[in-house]
Amino acid sequence: MHLKTLTLRGFKSFASATTLGFEPGITCVVGPNGSGKSNVVDALAWVMGEQGAKSLRGGSMEDVIFAGTSGRPPLGRAEVSLTIDNADGALPIDYAEVTISRTLFRNGGSEYAINGSSCRLLDIQELLSDTGMGREMHVIVGQGQLDAVLRATPDDRRGFIEEAAGVLKHRRRKEKAVRK
Ligand code: ATP
Ligand code: MG
Repeated sequence: MHLKTLTLRGFKSFASATTLGFEPGITCVVGPNGSGKSNVVDALAWVMGEQGAKSLRGGSMEDVIFAGTSGRPPLGRAEVSLTIDNADGALPIDYAEVTISRTLFRNGGSEYAINGSSCRLLDIQELLSDTGMGREMHVIVGQGQLDAVLRATPDDRRGFIEEAAGVLKHRRRKEKAVRK
């Protein structure tokens, strides 16, 4: 499984539709300060279901919609689509290529889709939940997060390792069962 393309339209500084292509292996995004590199990472987190405006470096979710510049009026919606190569079947869905999309309208309405069919946020979260790509996963390491790992208590650090090993969700389920 690997990311194939990411298309942003009206998302943060990307007013016009912009598609980034990824090959297997490492991709580097380079550019001057303020050119939108972190916005690309925000778009990835957002399309995978991120619900926290702060994690997206904004005050409210509406801040992901292109707010306009001196030469260009604001837009009414933000749209991001992520196409994932699923030839190895890592995603539990019968398609060799899977496109997830998310749209937010300025009036607050949201739309989600998997391969063009409208779905719920929960469907996207479930699709990604066993891949390590979900929104609560540490697949995106933000600035300052490395420091947090180094300063973490042994218990927290164990949590990171358990998450990476895929045992954290089983431990959570066990704790929930024991509490009942
Ligand atoms: P650095 O190298 O400093 O980390 P960067 O390339 O990561 O920079 P970003 O943080 O991705 O830069 O982009 C910041 C730019 O995005 C700012 O110019 C900001 O005005 C613009 N921006 C953020 N949200 C919006 C929005 N909703 N509408 C228009 N522009 C936006
Ligand atoms: Mg940045």
